Amino acid sequence: MSHENCIFCKIAAGQIPGKRVFEDDQLIVIHDINPAAKLHLLVIPKRHIETLADCLPENPADQALLGRMLALAPNLAREQGHGYADGAGGFRVVINTGPDGGQEVYHLHMHVLAGPRPWKRMG
Ligand code: 5GP
Ligand code: ZN
Repeated sequence: MSHENCIFCKIAAGQIPGKRVFEDDQLIVIHDINPAAKLHLLVIPKRHIETLADCLPENPADQALLGRMLALAPNLAREQGHGYADGAGGFRVVINTGPDGGQEVYHLHMHVLAGPRPWKRMG
């Protein structure tokens, strides 16, 4: 999908509303429109990268971005009442990649899921 028609680029640019819970210079975090669990957040880079497979392990910018996305997850979960502490609570992070990975939106994003089971199936 081209950048111009990308739903997450439009949300990041504020052209389409999204329920934001966090924003910095590189990322936005919104609630998923069709939550699979009580907590279902999407961590979305502002930069249009189609998939995780487009990130290069030797690229410092990609390393920093992915590290930041992952390192943010525990804070987000905690702020939303689903942190992991003292052996209780917790959350899951998922990055679907490509058709076999169940990716539907081709702008890199990381799901943060938490809450009581059962969860809805994702893809
Ligand atoms: P994927 O399958 O690509 O990993 O996940 C795409 C996710 O984006 C799905 O969970 C879907 O519900 C969510 N989604 C798709 N369009 C929108 C939208 O316009 N707003 C929000 N908040 N979430 C969306
Ligand atoms: Zn995009």
